[in-house]
Amino acid sequence: PKYVYAFAEGHKDLKDLLGGKGANLAEMTNMGLAVPPGFTITTAACRAFLATGIQPPELDDQVDRHLDALQTAAGRRLGDPDDPLLVSVRSGAVFSMPGMMETVLDVGLNDSSVLGLARAAGDDRFAWDSYRRLVQMFGTTVLGIDGAHFDAVFDAAKLARGTADDLGLDADDLRGVVGAYQAVVRERSGREFPQDPREQLDLTVRAVFGSWNAPRAITYRRRERIPADLGTAVTVQAMVFGNLGPDSGSGVAFTRDPATGEPGVYGDYLAHAQGEDVVAGIRNTLPLSELERLDPVSHRDLLANMATLERHYRDLCDIEFTIERGRLWMLQTRVGKRTAGAAFVIACQLVDDGLIDADEALRRVTGAQLVRLMFPRFAPDAATTVLAVGMNASPGAATGAAVFDSPTAVARAAAGEDVILVRRETNPDDLAGMIAAKGVLTGRGGRTSHAAVVARGMGRTCVCGAEDLDVDVDARKIVGPGGVMVAEGDLLSIDGSTGEVFLGAVPVVASPVMEYFEGSLDPASPEAGELVRAVHRLMEHADTTRRLAVYANADTGADAARARRFGADGIGLCRTEHMFLGDRREQVERLVLADTDAERDAALAELLPLQRADFIEVFTAMQGLPVTIRLLDPPLHEFLPDLTELSVRVALAEERGRVDAADVRLLAAVRRLHEENPMFGLRGVRLGIVVPGLFGMQVRAIAQAAATLRRNGVEVRPEIMVPLVGAVQELQAVAEETSAVLADEAERHGVELDAAIGTMIELPRAALTAGQIAESAEFFSFGTNDLTQTTWGFSRDDVEGAFFSRYLERGIFGTSPFETLDIDGVGRLIRIAAREGRATRPDIRLGVCGEHGGDPDSIHFFHHEGLDYVSCSPFRVPVARLESARAAL
Ligand code: PEP
Ligand code: MG
Repeated sequence: PKYVYAFAEGHKDLKDLLGGKGANLAEMTNMGLAVPPGFTITTAACRAFLATGIQPPELDDQVDRHLDALQTAAGRRLGDPDDPLLVSVRSGAVFSMPGMMETVLDVGLNDSSVLGLARAAGDDRFAWDSYRRLVQMFGTTVLGIDGAHFDAVFDAAKLARGTADDLGLDADDLRGVVGAYQAVVRERSGREFPQDPREQLDLTVRAVFGSWNAPRAITYRRRERIPADLGTAVTVQAMVFGNLGPDSGSGVAFTRDPATGEPGVYGDYLAHAQGEDVVAGIRNTLPLSELERLDPVSHRDLLANMATLERHYRDLCDIEFTIERGRLWMLQTRVGKRTAGAAFVIACQLVDDGLIDADEALRRVTGAQLVRLMFPRFAPDAATTVLAVGMNASPGAATGAAVFDSPTAVARAAAGEDVILVRRETNPDDLAGMIAAKGVLTGRGGRTSHAAVVARGMGRTCVCGAEDLDVDVDARKIVGPGGVMVAEGDLLSIDGSTGEVFLGAVPVVASPVMEYFEGSLDPASPEAGELVRAVHRLMEHADTTRRLAVYANADTGADAARARRFGADGIGLCRTEHMFLGDRREQVERLVLADTDAERDAALAELLPLQRADFIEVFTAMQGLPVTIRLLDPPLHEFLPDLTELSVRVALAEERGRVDAADVRLLAAVRRLHEENPMFGLRGVRLGIVVPGLFGMQVRAIAQAAATLRRNGVEVRPEIMVPLVGAVQELQAVAEETSAVLADEAERHGVELDAAIGTMIELPRAALTAGQIAESAEFFSFGTNDLTQTTWGFSRDDVEGAFFSRYLERGIFGTSPFETLDIDGVGRLIRIAAREGRATRPDIRLGVCGEHGGDPDSIHFFHHEGLDYVSCSPFRVPVARLESARAAL
């Protein structure tokens, strides 16, 4: 197989093979931008290496050939004692994993070529500085030596010189550092630093392959749901130098502000530095506008390149660049990560710029991003103290106890505490802490620093580069302006949208996007702002694009009204159990305890008007839209006192000789109805069959509510849904009773009552006999909560704590099947039921009302299976509207 591609042989759609970095370098090369020459070793080579532990035999020859071509293109050779070629060796996965894998720069330097480099560059200091970087990176990355050993040497050299800055060391100092570094390599790895450039290269390529399985990379992939078996590509590229003097430098830039979406080039620049220095946040960077002053020609070229890239990619791009003695080189580009808000804003801007159409704009945003925008933000009041203002690196409002290292963040978060991870600067090993923390705060580094990029990617609030804060990780404290102290455990609040850092906990207010959905913020008003306008535009387009109807699960007038404001097309599940709780327990107890038909009918008669009032409330809120009411579902015991508690009460009363006859009777009933597995017991349709008159009373209440409202000119569209059906005979029995009650009430009130009667599909048997069940059902609503429980045999109430975390850790699940539909198993049952239901009744309506109805991945499946609607909690309705449209694109 072909394992190596020259840049000119690739293009941006070869990401699977060349990784994101390699594919985009190829694209830029072919666009004619100034890219240093190079080649990419494919992910397939990495996979072969990881599978066998040895490099595929063809690779050597192929690298030889491409290295030759690279040396010809660059006009220099690796290891040349006069004017050597140096290369960078970088990882490049299919999905970006910022900072998670390895990179080695300056490969090709050795004790003799360093002299050639010094002569060719006319700069001894630069050559020795490059060499010490190579020995250090090679030592840590390839040989696995702890970086602290190198840091100790470097710090000692600076101390000896009396300087705190790297630039304070001269060529002689750095030559001494290289010697000491080589000694570290010898002592710690038991081998010499290799002098043969090709050996350096081969070992580095293997180390980059291996870094795919570094613990932090594994953690990152799990979190981002990146498959574990993709492997990384390796890009080998001629070095250009940002550290060749003050007319050189490196930077990172975005074609738009990735935090807000505001147009205008935006980024960080560091003169006299290599790219790694910018991303690591080691020195504080300059804003890109400063480059215009320092080097107007390169600045102009950079802006031109970025405009070209944005038009070409039709999206926000981020780039890494280096200026070598006044000449601009493009080192990387990709479609840039952005905050949730920026995603909406940018998508609309690109439509306005004529680069994409409205459908493409929908593809550029996700339901998960919309969820983030619905969260509250801070509202500082007079009592709030602003400690410092850093950079607004990743938005959100986070409050928690300050902690100063990743393990502490993980431990305290695991104990249930909200924490803010505070670091001078972050490095990739902080990932676990960043995941555990509510927010991340750093004293140094720009918005393009690793901390910021990673935080934005995971939606974690982040403020970075808060320079007024002296973060002392060893002493576990922050010293702020005026000597204000924050110790570990003290509460901090950080606002990732404004960059503000507050002492203590700050009050929060609703998000403007939430106010828009609630109807209190008009998107056309001046207060709305660009974000709300963008959300509104995309939601409108989503509603014209989606095929699925989006219903809500709502049981009260208030929930129904909210669902309606959030854009629900109706109610797909009105659970009635809450209507039997609270002060209605008494009537329910009387119903359950009834010994005679007369007692039972009396209890039902008391419940009827209460139920009628419940339905009038919901129907009124949903006027004109369908409302699917589910007949009573939960196991009966949920309405009765707890067996143990009641036993104790009765026993104590007996001891005191004060027996309460009612309690004794209740206890007998509770004992009689007690079930070991209530979830699989007397619930759903079984209740309707075993407790005569119960479902009939509910249907009567529905009918009376509908009749009353209809007479008053309110349009009501009730539907009646029977839960937990396993056999068509069960449904038939209930449907007959229901039809009879409806006909009776219609006649009494002299109105038409045409409520559809359908069933939930929540049991495998129901799915497998759906062809029969459809004879008695006008619609199916898949109750995927119970269907998941009954298909897997997992108790939905117990599993999350009991063993799911272990399953998730071990990768047995990617996500909980109660969250995202298990397509292979539960999905297959849905597919069978849909097909066979339709075969019996071609116009049967099919929907989903389990939690999966609001889950983006599951919604895409339901769309593709041709279902008619999804129903979810009111707060998820906007997400479901958006995702059903995205599924339809
Ligand atoms: C379901 O089982 O998916 C469902 C919607 O019903 P409930 O969650 O009330 O059991
Ligand atoms: Mg259910």
